Amino acid sequence: MTFTVEQAINWLTKSNEKIQKNKDYLSELDQAIGDGDHGINMARGFDEVVKKLDGNDYEQVADVLKDAAMTLMSKVGGASGPLFGTAFLKISMAVKGEEAVTFGTFVKALEDAVAGVKQRGKAEEGEKTMIDVWSPMVERMKAADDFDASVIRDNAKSSMEATKDIVATKGRAAYLKERSKGHLDPGSVSSYYIFEALAESLEE
Ligand code: ADP
Ligand code: MG
Ligand code: MG
Repeated sequence: MTFTVEQAINWLTKSNEKIQKNKDYLSELDQAIGDGDHGINMARGFDEVVKKLDGNDYEQVADVLKDAAMTLMSKVGGASGPLFGTAFLKISMAVKGEEAVTFGTFVKALEDAVAGVKQRGKAEEGEKTMIDVWSPMVERMKAADDFDASVIRDNAKSSMEATKDIVATKGRAAYLKERSKGHLDPGSVSSYYIFEALAESLEE
């Protein structure tokens, strides 16, 4: 199985739909342990991504993801813009040249995305950030030999849920120290929607 331009466009379109639908929920999560704007930030960014992609004729997955990355970086004010932008930019760079992306290349691209986000945010696993969804996803996919929508969906869901028990040591939630425990990390919930959207795009 390969990942095509059409699937890449679907991935971002479906991510946008989920983020718009859950915009208020994402901001409520951020209200509890941050500044309450995560839903607004992500909704604004992904709305712009879909607008940017609309009507363009793409030949490569890399070009779709590059446009998405650049849009997120330039249109989102919060920490999440540069971080999600970096993730998509790294994926774009790693899949460049492949019209339809193989599983091996895709996994390597996600690995680069995680490394890029870690570097950009100076964060590691276990700090209650989006990395806690992206990094286990890479590890799980490395252990597989093809795209599997239900594996992706399940892995993202359990990792997202597990952020509830983590004490934040990066991002705004880190100011709350122990009190950040018991709340989901907003960026991890957005990441869950993005991987759920990826799973759905693979099923079509
Ligand atoms: P801001 O914190 O600037 O208001 P958002 O609310 O849009 O930005 O995004 C917050 C999310 O960004 C967090 O829930 C977390 O997942 C992610 N995040 C914050 N800081 C970092 C970091 N240093 N490294 C990785 N991810 C981070
Ligand atoms: Mg915020
Ligand atoms: Mg903010």
